[in-house]
Amino acid sequence: MEFNPANNIQDLQYFGEFGGVNPSISDSSTYTFLSAKTMFDTFEGNTEGCYLYTRHSSPSNLYLGEALAAMEGTASANVTASGMGAITAVVLQLCNAGDHIVSSRTIYGGTYAFMKNFLPKLGIDTSFVDITDLQKVEEAIGPKTKMLYCESVSNPLLEIADIEKLAALAKRHGVPLVVDNTFSPLTIAPGKLGADVVIHSLTKFINGSSDCVGGVVCSTTDFCLKLKDVNDGAGMLLGSTMDSLRASSVLKNLRTLHIRMKKHSENTLFLAQRFEADGLRVVYPGLESHTGHHILKRQMNPEYGFGGMMTIDVGSLDKANALMELMQTRNLGYLAVSLGFYKTLFSAPGTSTSSEIPEEEQKEMGLSDGLIRFSIGLDNDIARTYDMMRQCMVALGILEGTRAMA
Ligand code: PLP
Repeated sequence: MEFNPANNIQDLQYFGEFGGVNPSISDSSTYTFLSAKTMFDTFEGNTEGCYLYTRHSSPSNLYLGEALAAMEGTASANVTASGMGAITAVVLQLCNAGDHIVSSRTIYGGTYAFMKNFLPKLGIDTSFVDITDLQKVEEAIGPKTKMLYCESVSNPLLEIADIEKLAALAKRHGVPLVVDNTFSPLTIAPGKLGADVVIHSLTKFINGSSDCVGGVVCSTTDFCLKLKDVNDGAGMLLGSTMDSLRASSVLKNLRTLHIRMKKHSENTLFLAQRFEADGLRVVYPGLESHTGHHILKRQMNPEYGFGGMMTIDVGSLDKANALMELMQTRNLGYLAVSLGFYKTLFSAPGTSTSSEIPEEEQKEMGLSDGLIRFSIGLDNDIARTYDMMRQCMVALGILEGTRAMA
């Protein structure tokens, strides 16, 4: 793929009001107009370069939106107060009462809960399908379907969506393809592969410091303006606006994303290969054994690697809990949800981030009790980390070895 997202971000140039190397932060909720006519035109959405009210847009949010649009190769982007703020706004912009969604069944638990439990209150139904089975996806599309939804690398099972094929299928049926790319920034550019809307939870790798929540919708200028429409824009009217101070801090962190992603990927591949060789059930898209490995290879930007997420199934919830507690005690990472931090984070998704999904359905999709989801950190010496993790596993009888060493 020719497209280079990190270069696109680097090529943007902003200065602060007084020539500062960072853009000035717009510390205002409302903006003055020199003429009443310009204010009216801005309400109507006709005035370039004028700001009305921060829930609509602000210079700081526009800077961050521009950088994220450059990263995804889309014409525009709107930042939001959280990833869920982006997802809910997109869904409610595209779907009305009586409409239908076809969604991957392995998605973030909050998105699943929104579609499964909340949207029926508004008369919107969702069919959850195995996104890797294109025939099943196509069969689920009906006359009322208004959106095809998936994650490029799914949470928590790390299934790989074949975005090119899904985009072609969606196009054939005249349905927009919406892709949550939270797990694979820079590695995958869904917009370049044919997705109509690309969403991120900025909370994760993009911000990378686990100090705030944030989200973004990357799409056409038309769709981004629709979301901001004062009369019926879901972004504007539902109010999930990012604060300007936050937008400026996320923009600063975005500048190191390419370096961080390479290190996350390098470290995760190292651990995944070692633990697989040790005989553990490891799922990592960078492994040949992963069912989506070749699809990801075809659609990825190889420079950034296969990403920073992997899972290991240690057989039971008790073992998973014991291992996570021991790893935390030995300072190998934190027992915490979320991802993309400098430190390794681990959790058992069945009882945490995917607990919204009923047990029966978890089983059906292959989400087992003993599954630990790892977001591997930026550890400088990953071989040392491997040895220390291995010792924890030996101590708990998950791996064979000399227990005395542990
Ligand atoms: N999408 C994915 C893949 C996620 O993992 C998450 C959160 O864990 C979200 C969306 C929601 O993002 P936020 O927590 O920023 O609202």
